[in-house]
Amino acid sequence: RRPLAVSIERFTVLPTAQPTAPQIRDDILANPGFGRYFTDHMAHVRWTLDAGWHAHEVRPYGPLTLDPAAAVLHYGQEIFEGVKAYRHADGSVWTFRPEKNAERFRRSARRLALPELSDEDFVDSLKALLAQDQGWVPTPASEADESSLYLRPFMIASETFLGVRPSHEVDYYVIASPAAAYFQGGVKPVSIWLSSHYKRAAAGGTGFAKCGGNYAASLAAQKEAAAHDCSQVAFLDAAENKWIEELGGMNLFFVFKDGRIVTPRLTDTILEGVTRDSVLTLAGDEGLTPEERPISIDEWREGAASGEITEVFACGTAAVITPVGELVTEEGSIRLAAEGDNEVAKRLRTRLLDLQYGRSEDTRGWLT
Ligand code: PMP
Repeated sequence: RRPLAVSIERFTVLPTAQPTAPQIRDDILANPGFGRYFTDHMAHVRWTLDAGWHAHEVRPYGPLTLDPAAAVLHYGQEIFEGVKAYRHADGSVWTFRPEKNAERFRRSARRLALPELSDEDFVDSLKALLAQDQGWVPTPASEADESSLYLRPFMIASETFLGVRPSHEVDYYVIASPAAAYFQGGVKPVSIWLSSHYKRAAAGGTGFAKCGGNYAASLAAQKEAAAHDCSQVAFLDAAENKWIEELGGMNLFFVFKDGRIVTPRLTDTILEGVTRDSVLTLAGDEGLTPEERPISIDEWREGAASGEITEVFACGTAAVITPVGELVTEEGSIRLAAEGDNEVAKRLRTRLLDLQYGRSEDTRGWLT
């Protein structure tokens, strides 16, 4: 691994004059939900065509002032990331593989014709904000308490101009939100809706980038899912309507009876999850055989019916690893013939959480 610069001093700190009262903060941390409450500060770096990246700062959290003609409000030139900070038993605070998010943020920026932020600026912006707002990182009450501080870096086209061209002014921010477990009720299997009409991404499009537009385009399908009592949407490929891609906000894995663990191979229509990559690595440690290859909806249906597929699970930073209990489609529901206890998903989940919360040794240098 390339060592990362640790000079967060280039972020000028402008502390808030009105920090949240400790009592109020503790009440929020005791029951944070997800994405509702935000810490006292945010990180910010400005970019202009002339000056490049400059004015690194940590400043009070608060509304942005944007001209109504700001490009992002019209053409959606925007990208974002999601990273969690975990508090270990000794009180120290750690992020998990943030350099992978930094790399993905640069890939997203290239696709959206936004300026690339260096990996050092990305990781240091997280460190600078965490240094200021570390009191907002929840202290887990037990091993079952999966609370963390969710960090949301994002970049917007802020130039006041209605022409359709890459913005000459861009702002990068990091905000932070204390988070409880994403799905309440632990590792209870979730129901997923198969979108047969809407597509998430097409070849040559933006599927591999983490841009707001991808999520805006997924919401109509998400509404269908909710109407069918499903919490997430599974998308098929746009060309053949046959190959499994991923969920609206998570990657998918299939566990086979013979110990193979399969996830769709990466194309430009799939978001490369940091959790996905970590699961592929940890699966080897568990004696499983990871495979990245195309997997069709027919293989899911037939494998589930025959018992060849023993588990299906989704993974991502927010929800870690979540077993998929059933796939609801317009033609009926796909359930696993051998509905087991999702033992592989649970094992991988525990491995991942033990690493993130510092309960096992970080032999790969995944913690920063
Ligand atoms: N796919 C999509 C579409 C996502 O939004 C996410 C969440 N970032 C993921 C997969 C999982 O990625 P990660 O493991 O990096 O959170």
